[in-house]
Amino acid sequence: MESKLIFVTGGVVSSLGKGITAAALGRLLKSRGYSVSIMKLDPYLNVDPGTMNPYQHGEVFVTDDGAETDLDIGHYERFINEELTRLNNTTSGQIYSAVIERERRGGYQGGTVQVIPHITEEIKHRITKVMKKLRPDALIVEIGGTVGDIESQPFLEAIRQLKSQCEPMQCCFIHVTLIPYLSASGELKTKPTQHSVKELQSIGIQPDVIVCRSDYPLSRSIKAKIALFCNTAEECVIENLNAGSLYEVPLMLEEKGLCTAVCKKLGLDPRTPDLTEWRAMVDRELNPETECTVAIVGKYVELHDAYLSVAEALKHGGFANRARVNLRWLGAEDLEKGSDCSGALEGVDAILVPGGFGERGIKGKIMACRYARENNIPYFGICLGMQIAVIEFAQDVLGWEDAQSTEFDFSTKHPVIDLMADQVNNLERIGGTLRLGSYTCRLEEGTLAASIYGCFETHERHRHRYEFNNEFEADFRDAGMVFSGWNPRRGLAEIIELPSHPWFVGVQFHPEFTSRPDEPNPLFASFIEAALKGKE
Ligand code: GLN
Repeated sequence: MESKLIFVTGGVVSSLGKGITAAALGRLLKSRGYSVSIMKLDPYLNVDPGTMNPYQHGEVFVTDDGAETDLDIGHYERFINEELTRLNNTTSGQIYSAVIERERRGGYQGGTVQVIPHITEEIKHRITKVMKKLRPDALIVEIGGTVGDIESQPFLEAIRQLKSQCEPMQCCFIHVTLIPYLSASGELKTKPTQHSVKELQSIGIQPDVIVCRSDYPLSRSIKAKIALFCNTAEECVIENLNAGSLYEVPLMLEEKGLCTAVCKKLGLDPRTPDLTEWRAMVDRELNPETECTVAIVGKYVELHDAYLSVAEALKHGGFANRARVNLRWLGAEDLEKGSDCSGALEGVDAILVPGGFGERGIKGKIMACRYARENNIPYFGICLGMQIAVIEFAQDVLGWEDAQSTEFDFSTKHPVIDLMADQVNNLERIGGTLRLGSYTCRLEEGTLAASIYGCFETHERHRHRYEFNNEFEADFRDAGMVFSGWNPRRGLAEIIELPSHPWFVGVQFHPEFTSRPDEPNPLFASFIEAALKGKE
């Protein structure tokens, strides 16, 4: 069977949770026994989000094969529990680069290179490549942006063309819109949805299913009105209310008949889904037996999306322990303002310093790390957070006051975190040159890390440029730091821990990217367990 294609577009406003809708539909199809892959087409001109400021874009999600991708790819992986690849996220930047590169090689043989057909051909090529390579029963394709945006037009044109080249029941278009509520008149309004669907129709796309985000339930008559004006069946107008938890969305959409409508449109047997495990996981989330508070000390804490996977993985760690994890977001620079951070950190059961780049806030992160180390509060350092732990230990325990990462101080005599030779020339061409993707990590026998993973080898994803400087390894060891994980091929330190402390772990990789709600990354499960234990 050729893969079925499900396109997800968005209308009216951005941030409607198109990604969650796509991911939830993926889960619903999978739970019916269909194989699924999901891809995202992003209209911006950056080649990937790797060079963007988190305030612009939120977190950069990293795949196993080392692609820096949109955070929706993280939602997809968490919901469908599949490892996705660089093929699953394409941007206008990549499309245009490929077309221009081919033009420079003479690949268009004298032709004028144009948006239609050349850019649209390249877009279609990338979609069909995923179909051919992965051969899923269903490929869900989310188009970033909002219908009506200039940037997303080539993508919409490409999917219109694709449909006309497919079998009659091979494609399904889902349009996610907003039904706003006007408090003055006490009404839900359908007009913005009507306009947005008209816009889609004017470019030749008729949505088969309309997913309506709303703060209030849609009455039968509202659904009928939307169906009438938008040219769809009433059962294809799906209400999508705000959910208490993201992981409830598949269950809510199942109840509203989303997947059944999609299966019908595609001629797929609608089957009864098996959502037993998913329901059990949501039940663990909604009915916690205990709780704890974890401080996240970062520099983009106003935008929680900047640490999306970390926050999700902490939740997953909570599910594993039947605990609600309350997050206390602390701006590292705010901590620097006081002489100590005991006030801001009072009452937290654990402290996490996530990844980051650049010097801003470093001092505050070191203060938080010191507070955790000295007060026996569980500490989890991820990537930059591990480097912070190394710097803090060097400054305070080893007494090297000038110890630093050369990312922040090039002339320190104690460059405990430093650039490897293969990275020295990458500082000028920063895009895509970090150490990226999954690498093997060998775990040392008898360490906390080995007992957490329950094995001697694991694979985790990376996104960083700097590394622990092995020149100083003996000094750290002598002072009580244990190096519990190593990259076996290059001898790079991957995990550090302090056996004198109840739970103090720093990892050079990003374990949050492999955590799933129903299969939490073991480090997060153990970290939350330690937070709960410390609380007792
Ligand atoms: N800035 C550090 C590095 O490049 C850490 C990166 C990160 O935390 N992702 O090595």
